[in-house]
Amino acid sequence: MNVADSERAATGLRASGYDLCESVDDADVVLLNTCSVREKAERKVYTRIGEVRAARPDKQDLLVGVMGCVAQLEGKAVFEHASSVNMVIGTRATDRISSLIERARDGERKVLDLGERGEHDSWDVSPVERHSPHVAFIPIIEGCNKFCSFCIVPYSRGRERSRPATEIITEVKRLQALGYKEIHLIGQNVNSYRPRVEDGLEGFSGATPFCRLLRAVAATGLPRIKFTTSFPRDFHPDIVAAIEENPNLCDWVHLPVQSGSDRILKLMRRGHKRSDYLARIERVKNSKRRLALTSDVIVGFPGETEEDFQDTISLVSQCEYDSLYLFKYSKRAGTPAAEFRETVPEKEKTARFLELEKVQRAAQEKIYTSYVGRTLSVLAERQSSRSEADLTGHSTCHKVVNFSGTRNLEGEIVDVIVTAAKTNSLYGTLINRSAVGVRGT
Ligand code: SAM
Repeated sequence: MNVADSERAATGLRASGYDLCESVDDADVVLLNTCSVREKAERKVYTRIGEVRAARPDKQDLLVGVMGCVAQLEGKAVFEHASSVNMVIGTRATDRISSLIERARDGERKVLDLGERGEHDSWDVSPVERHSPHVAFIPIIEGCNKFCSFCIVPYSRGRERSRPATEIITEVKRLQALGYKEIHLIGQNVNSYRPRVEDGLEGFSGATPFCRLLRAVAATGLPRIKFTTSFPRDFHPDIVAAIEENPNLCDWVHLPVQSGSDRILKLMRRGHKRSDYLARIERVKNSKRRLALTSDVIVGFPGETEEDFQDTISLVSQCEYDSLYLFKYSKRAGTPAAEFRETVPEKEKTARFLELEKVQRAAQEKIYTSYVGRTLSVLAERQSSRSEADLTGHSTCHKVVNFSGTRNLEGEIVDVIVTAAKTNSLYGTLINRSAVGVRGT
């Protein structure tokens, strides 16, 4: 979401006549896009503001702005924490940045905009600002209505707002015409997608608006379509049916579970029990296509006992995730969990983190090793940062695959036979497409 926000901000700024530069040394304005999901990310921004100012001691008129979730949540307090900040730009003010810069340039000392989106705000992102010429992020829903007790997102990004399907489909077609091979439909909870109007979904069936959208986007014929993040309570089995019907809907589902203990899930206000989650993933696991499953887990949530933690260990072992994003609970002021008394000591959180990481590593090693000898369809995205002789990309099951290849293949979807498994990636050899009999995922 942060990458997509930066792309959108850059598009608007360029349209208003600004040029974007790579280095602080060349800038007249520096904008820091921020995340507040965990405390560490939030703290980083203040360190970064200091670094930016220190890099340009002679440029008195350098304007510094903070945008994104920290800006939205802290508002005016950002100016108190860091008096050298000129602009605080909330999460829904992305389309007004150029006018905020103008106000600061005209001498306004502390420019603040925490307002809502305008009626006619544009989601358009120029291809020049996209993070990749081959893979594009398309936001389909903003905000969150779930109010999980640990999470700051509903406060930093506001309520859920779904983008009209016609707009999404037009964007997909435009990207397809530009040669993009892969798109990611993104949002805090993509499967809670509920647009105000049906336009664009007519003729596409599905148990939920999201399932209909998946089918509508698949019908464009864009080669690879991924989506993230799904919310367990809203995960309808028809999502898997849509994937099975459409080869261009990729073989990957990201479904954050957060904990394996019913007691903790209740305290987290997730709205699902362990058994509900396991029922949801059963359809994923039993799909006729082999679908990769990934998840998020928080350890050390307030009041998490050793027994609760062991429930998480057993759930993670049972789910056999292709990969897992593991987080130590981070207290977020303003969320209900921040008021919970029974906190888990930092040392214990670290111990649990390491124990769960070990369990996941072992399971992942087995899964990754099982890919050796299989052929994967890989989008060659760029040269590997480790070796100039290698290209790197993702499989349809969203695994990083590195293979020996030349840069003229960038942007191509190629077949790679996996020859080695690493902890978080696969290594393989490019093969002649016509020589492939069976293509795995
Ligand atoms: N909307 C998705 C959901 O709740 O299923 C996830 C969105 S959240 C931005 C990404 C992940 O950050 C969460 O799944 C959770 O594991 C982690 N996270 C959120 N708040 C956290 C906190 N206070 N401490 C630690 N991790 C947190």
